[in-house]
Amino acid sequence: MIPYGRQFIDEDDIQAVINVLKSDWLTQGPVIEQFERSLADYCGAKYAVAVSSGTAALHLSCLAAGIRHGDEAITSPITFVASANCVLYCGGSPVFADIDKNTYNIDHYEIKKKITPRTKAIIPVHFAGLPCDMEEIKNIASRHDLITIEDACHALGSEWMDSHRRLNKTGSCSYSDMTVFSFHPVKHITTGEGGAVLTNNSEYYKKVLLLRNHGITKDPEKYTNRDLAFSLNPESLILNPNSWYYEMQELGFNYRITDIQCALGLSQLKKLDLFIKRRRHITNIYNSAFANIEHVKLPVEPEGKKSSCHLYAMQIDFEELGKTRAAFINALKEKGIFTQVHYIPVHLQPFYTKRYGFKEKEYPVAERYYTKTISLPVYPGMTDEDLERVIYSVKGCLHAG
Ligand SMILES: *Cc1c(COP(=O)(O)O)cnc(C)c1O
Repeated sequence: MIPYGRQFIDEDDIQAVINVLKSDWLTQGPVIEQFERSLADYCGAKYAVAVSSGTAALHLSCLAAGIRHGDEAITSPITFVASANCVLYCGGSPVFADIDKNTYNIDHYEIKKKITPRTKAIIPVHFAGLPCDMEEIKNIASRHDLITIEDACHALGSEWMDSHRRLNKTGSCSYSDMTVFSFHPVKHITTGEGGAVLTNNSEYYKKVLLLRNHGITKDPEKYTNRDLAFSLNPESLILNPNSWYYEMQELGFNYRITDIQCALGLSQLKKLDLFIKRRRHITNIYNSAFANIEHVKLPVEPEGKKSSCHLYAMQIDFEELGKTRAAFINALKEKGIFTQVHYIPVHLQPFYTKRYGFKEKEYPVAERYYTKTISLPVYPGMTDEDLERVIYSVKGCLHAG
């Protein structure tokens, strides 16, 4: 069986987890900070906060951005539902901007059309690992005083060149306020479940840190209720913080990640560049295998961008081919090859149509893209034989063998 994506775990990963299991701390111990530091360094950001999932990371970054009732945030309709749901969690309204027909990323011309006096943030999604045009998006955001949160759940390790010929790593937040990653097993590195918020802004950093743990602080310098927080030492006449004391200053959550998970994350991070190399190799092999086949359009990588190749989303004109997508996917499944569709446009989900009145044909590029898309297997542990088998079978289904 060949899945569309899966984790790669080796003996070092297993040993790292065992080491934590034998240590004093399973959660809220030292490994979380080590993982956060390594992640921030890898991406070139000042701060990272690791949390329990990519969705939690999106939620907390929206809260840190101050999104609340009456605010709008613009995102892509071709993404996982969490990119839009995070705005709803804060009481805000998600607004979609259609995608570019070549990159499948949010189209910045469409973003401009969707800006209103209520717009608070833009949440671009680096679809399949291809970085959005962040310089352009940051320009729009600056002109309208908006906060930019990159949903980079597909894009850990991706890079792009800006107009000053400077290389930017996704997560460096060089053209955004915050960047969000996921460490679900199908993503680039895994912690089982997990996610992170990266930023260069100390205020956002502190806010996300506070909200990750119920809005509770144990930092005596931040205590506001000083009568309860401190006791006078009768001998030295010094006020000492009470050892049991903590303060809940905001309504936060339990979005903590564990040391067990972060040990896995740290160990995985060491292999990230190798993982991406393999993903890019698989992508290149697919690109040459399916070049110039009728009814097929391959993913692009515009000049100056280096995708982390999370997905291989190819477009097949099933109508021209004379075969439904369901039949195509089932035929591959019978050969043990599991493909996926990324994504059903979020605005067409019943919750969005029924509760928020989104309709079909509102985002024509996204909807046309959706009818043709199919994601082929890509993961670091995919062997050359697996790859050959997928190519042979897909070509067979395309009558292009
Ligand atoms: C995976 C993913 C998420 C959610 O991450 P979880 O860790 O599964 O919560 C959000 N946005 C995108 C684009 C994703 O691919």
